[in-house]
Amino acid sequence: SDRLNILDIWVDPVDRSQSIQRVRDFLQGDRPCSIFAANPEKNFSVPRDPELWKAFQSADLLIPDGIGIVVAARLLHGAVLQRVPGVEFMQDICRLAVEEEKSIFLYGARESVNKAAVDRLRTRFPGLCIAGRSDGYVQDTQMPQLIRRINDSKASILFLALGSPRQEKWFANHADELTSVKVCQGIGGTLDAITG
Ligand code: UDP
Repeated sequence: SDRLNILDIWVDPVDRSQSIQRVRDFLQGDRPCSIFAANPEKNFSVPRDPELWKAFQSADLLIPDGIGIVVAARLLHGAVLQRVPGVEFMQDICRLAVEEEKSIFLYGARESVNKAAVDRLRTRFPGLCIAGRSDGYVQDTQMPQLIRRINDSKASILFLALGSPRQEKWFANHADELTSVKVCQGIGGTLDAITG
């Protein structure tokens, strides 16, 4: 696509409706596609970490999450972007999941927050199928078991709420073990935000 480079990170010049169209396409695909938020806070960390660099470079969709990236795109490229805030886009994806009868898996945040987020999303999106959930404090030794639970849930959409860069690295390390997931969005602290 016409991905923009902004001081060593990338962003896709997409608005919310183009972004959700991309997710529709991802759902028809045959591998897990990744969605991460592009924001200037990552300019410092991403170029210094090869694993993170690779996760961002190979991301399927990098949304213009905040005002910082919008301003930077304007100054550096004369590009006029609309914000696609991750918190709101996550809920666009939930709405799409209901429409398309796809189920979601919620991985991340503290146990109480994760549980409350499930209740909140069920209330806000009637008919949403939440096929599984896990808090974000799973030990490495328990990871194969979590992967099995995600795969057994048959969820098409996985939300990773581990914070950045944890969630990007998790995707880089485990995407090829996922058998049903087609869309994976890194949502940072969104579950805290929607339950707080
Ligand atoms: N988190 C998690 N597992 C961890 C560390 C953090 O699930 O090992 C969750 C944390 O509970 C919070 C989210 O990740 O819901 C964001 O955490 P943090 O504020 O540290 O990251 P940031 O928002 O700065 O990316």
